[in-house]
Amino acid sequence: MLQQQVENYAVYENNEKLNDILINQKALHTYVEEMQKPVIYKLKQEKKLYSEFFDPNVLSFTYIARNIHQIENKLLQDANKTQKYYKLASTNPRNALNKANEFEKELIKKFNASDLQEFKEMIEEGGQKFLYYAKPVGRNKESCMRCHSAADIAPQELLKIYGDKKGFNEHIGDIRAIISIKIPLQKELENAKTYYNIITAIIFVSLLFIYVVIVFLMKQLDAKQNKLEDLVNVDELTKCYNRRSFEFDLNNQIEQVKRTKTELSLISFDIDYFKAINDDYGHLVGDTVLINLCKIVQLRNRKYDRLYRVGGEEFMIVLPNTTLENALLIAERIRMDVETYKIRDRVVTISLGACQHKQEDDFTKLYKKVDAALYKAKNNGRNRVESCQEEILTFKK
Ligand code: GH3
Ligand code: MG
Ligand code: MG
Repeated sequence: MLQQQVENYAVYENNEKLNDILINQKALHTYVEEMQKPVIYKLKQEKKLYSEFFDPNVLSFTYIARNIHQIENKLLQDANKTQKYYKLASTNPRNALNKANEFEKELIKKFNASDLQEFKEMIEEGGQKFLYYAKPVGRNKESCMRCHSAADIAPQELLKIYGDKKGFNEHIGDIRAIISIKIPLQKELENAKTYYNIITAIIFVSLLFIYVVIVFLMKQLDAKQNKLEDLVNVDELTKCYNRRSFEFDLNNQIEQVKRTKTELSLISFDIDYFKAINDDYGHLVGDTVLINLCKIVQLRNRKYDRLYRVGGEEFMIVLPNTTLENALLIAERIRMDVETYKIRDRVVTISLGACQHKQEDDFTKLYKKVDAALYKAKNNGRNRVESCQEEILTFKK
């Protein structure tokens, strides 16, 4: 498709040149016929010229046109410019230079046999592309016959120059010759190719730019969406996950455990006598305790364990792939870590409950069980871990 467009452009660009050549040839013809020949014939009539006078230099349009063309080509060559292919091609020429080649011969036949006015086509010769154009000269008229019918009526001067064999036996109405023009398209084809390559490059760069912008905007949108998700799922004060996120995740984990038959455990904890911390040091200090407590617990958390703030000072940890024994060990370590934390010389402690999910447990059941274990830890003196299964090891203070 690009190739076709490039070629169309090259042909279009060269139509101008073709028209220049045609106008040039018409002007030349008009000059010879209307200005030069009348002068010569007048001289002849006034007997200033003898009656048989014929010199192609002044009387043959074909001769004059070819010579001017040769001079022009020589000048173009000297100026390092592309030469013009211009020929009055004939099957029966007087001068061998005007001899039609096979292609031109076929065209002359075609023009003679039809009303075809012109022929224009892109052709290829020796690996090069050309715009080829042909147009018939006017059909033979009565006035042409003196020089082109029989040798015995032709001017003696003409016979002297060309002999009595070539250029005769023509008939009125026949097309004797065609104007044959060939213009190389290479330069225009290369220009057009460069032009189309530039356009293709511009389109490519534009598309790339649009792609980069889209990717950039998508990333921004993603970042915004993540931020929004954080806003919805993360607790503003402590930056750990919130109750909404807890409900969603635990339900998902329960579903997964049912499908994969793996273990899932849950730890619940609550700060001991937190009200007293608030009362004694103020709400802001209470907030600091909440923030620091989350940091301490998160340090202990493994890769897939997740901490949630489900109430004012109540927290949950969801532990996938974890048995009750391991959950109790983790809970005890957390308890011990927290115990080392002091606020204004007051030791902060937490009470914890730990549970493993059982086949029959849904969200509410599991939640209630772990809450009961926490309640038990509070009742049994606080700063301790209780299991929701009596027979499984519990840690005493
Ligand atoms: P225990 O759990 O050991 O039974 O006693 P507690 O004093 O911790 O229990 P309680 O439920 O009576 O008190 C919880 C307190 O937590 C009450 C409330 O003022 C405080 N609280 C809840 N949310 C926040 C919060 O966001 N910031 C602060 N500073 N305090 C909070
Ligand atoms: Mg409490
Ligand atoms: Mg509480």
